[in-house]
Amino acid sequence: MVEDVVKTLKVRIKNEVLTTRKKEKLRKITGRDTRIIEKYVRIIHHNRRKICTKTKNGKIRVHRGKLDELTLTTSRLKRVEERRETVLHDFKKMFPYCSHNEFQECRDIAVQLYEQGYRPSPTRLPIKRARRQLINAKRFVLVHLPKEKNNTLTRWWVGIRDSLDTWRRNTPYHQKLWLPLEMSTFHQKELKKGRVKSLELRYKRSTREWWVYFQLKVLPPPSFYSPEKENSSSLPPAVLGIDLGINIPAAGVLLTPKKKLTNKEIKFWYTKQWNRVNHRYKLKLSRLQRKAALNDQSGKKHQIYRFLGLLRRRYKNVKRVYIHQFINNVVQTIETYAQRYDLFVVVGYPKHIREEKGKRKITRKFRRKLHQWNFSLVLALLHRALILRGFEPHRILTIEEKGTSSHCTRCGRKVIRPVRGLVHCPSCNYTFHSDLTGAMNIARKFLGELFRPRGNTITDYLTGQKYSLTHFTVCLGLSHWLQSQ
Ligand SMILES: [Zn+2]
Repeated sequence: MVEDVVKTLKVRIKNEVLTTRKKEKLRKITGRDTRIIEKYVRIIHHNRRKICTKTKNGKIRVHRGKLDELTLTTSRLKRVEERRETVLHDFKKMFPYCSHNEFQECRDIAVQLYEQGYRPSPTRLPIKRARRQLINAKRFVLVHLPKEKNNTLTRWWVGIRDSLDTWRRNTPYHQKLWLPLEMSTFHQKELKKGRVKSLELRYKRSTREWWVYFQLKVLPPPSFYSPEKENSSSLPPAVLGIDLGINIPAAGVLLTPKKKLTNKEIKFWYTKQWNRVNHRYKLKLSRLQRKAALNDQSGKKHQIYRFLGLLRRRYKNVKRVYIHQFINNVVQTIETYAQRYDLFVVVGYPKHIREEKGKRKITRKFRRKLHQWNFSLVLALLHRALILRGFEPHRILTIEEKGTSSHCTRCGRKVIRPVRGLVHCPSCNYTFHSDLTGAMNIARKFLGELFRPRGNTITDYLTGQKYSLTHFTVCLGLSHWLQSQ
């Protein structure tokens, strides 16, 4: 089974050599489309009874053909009877310099926005002036000019078909807008890995620079366990259970054909600095918030919200760096395990725990901490990173984590938590690390589903993808982990 992965490659445009004319053009291209999109959204909303349908799971789908019937005239069709000469909202009259294709691109974006829940409202301002514009592969060229053919310093250029018409001898034609790119060797390597699907023009307000985001379709590398690799078929099976925690971002336990756990099969992933950095940002944020609230109460004028916004954005960026570091760590360990075992990775999805913990009485601080890792983001990133490294999708599974950290790993009865971080089983008098208990039980839950299957498939909790049991036959050699020990 081959799954495509889309990668984004960010390349900076050499803003310092852009002429003012080009900058103006870029601004116009991105800005004009915003107005069209906003108009489209308003029309969809106004005619929602006619052109929207609801799917079974309550999502709204917009009928694009019917939307076109309201907005676009078709006077060039061959059959006269199929032509639409007049429509209710004539876009071609409103925006005379746009082509049919561009309208359709804007329509697609508007439909996407509407389906995601964006609604126009009389009180709210329209979409902020766009600083981004998606352009599909037919409408741009990426060229590399070798030294001999090019007398400028820039080797890489991207030529975008200018969506604004230029008039020459009474006929419109589209100029190419050439943008110089700052392409490093890293970028060139990445570009070779995949096919460019589309590009996005983006304006970064913080640095006042234009960037190009390439969307690459990357084919995943050959399977990690391909038959060409030596003795890969004779590797012993193993299941790695991962529990995403709160203080320690993740803990893992590897269940192997051996009957005992040793230090080699236990792994904690954490970044030392993260807790400290996180704490510092939290403190700063809460202080500023309190200050702002106090000033609000006393009716003083202040600019604290501006700083708050800045700080929040910075916090988000810092957090992202740590998440990526963390993912890298996990992936590295998994790779080393995978060289020795026929490995399956099972991650607990902690959604239910979040809900449950919210109901019970716990401190506010703890609840806030529970929400600070974006679990689905972490899981999605991990999934993608592993697939890019050649793991088949059925080797990375997420299952529900419900109840996994509250049962004894030895006898399966309920446990108590004498101190945070430890679990104790009163019936067999066994004490164990709480995160490891979770990780081990997740792996065992997965094995349990293999041995007592409900139907012929195993479902991935995150994506809903179903995999047939035949993928997992090697795991049946791990049955001894299901018995109480
Ligand atoms: Zn026990």
